[in-house]
Amino acid sequence: MIQMKKHKIYEAELIQPACPYCGSLALLHNGHLITNIRYLTANASHPATIRLAKQRVRCRDCSRWSMAQSELASKYCSISNASKLKILSALTEDRSMTSIASENNVSVNTVQRVLGSCSHRFLDSYEYLPAHLAFDCMISKIFNRSKYIKTSIRIDLAWSLN
Ligand SMILES: [Zn+2]
Repeated sequence: MIQMKKHKIYEAELIQPACPYCGSLALLHNGHLITNIRYLTANASHPATIRLAKQRVRCRDCSRWSMAQSELASKYCSISNASKLKILSALTEDRSMTSIASENNVSVNTVQRVLGSCSHRFLDSYEYLPAHLAFDCMISKIFNRSKYIKTSIRIDLAWSLN
């Protein structure tokens, strides 16, 4: 099924003012790299796209190539950083990836990629014990009552020894 949606397109040019390697202002211009960046909108049925023309330049002093960069989106990425943050905050809610994807005008794969790119930050470290340990009723059902108390006391002692 092909979905027809009207996009609002904003055109912008990103200028490279100086060489990022040596700071020289003597630059040789060599066209633009045009990227279509999907941006946040209040209404998902009216997506907004920023057509960003990034200047490509060659330095006359150090002969190195560079391209203008912005904080709007990462290099060669067509999803704005603001959209990625919105997707990430939506992922903390009890919602499906499909609904997050359609709200932000991206594919489900993109939502998964955003989650994957940040998942390393949420890995638990097993190097230390937390200051307070809580046992819920699941554990007390598994162990009998006396064993449960002993286990919790042993862990409290282990923690106070550290
Ligand atoms: Zn240079």
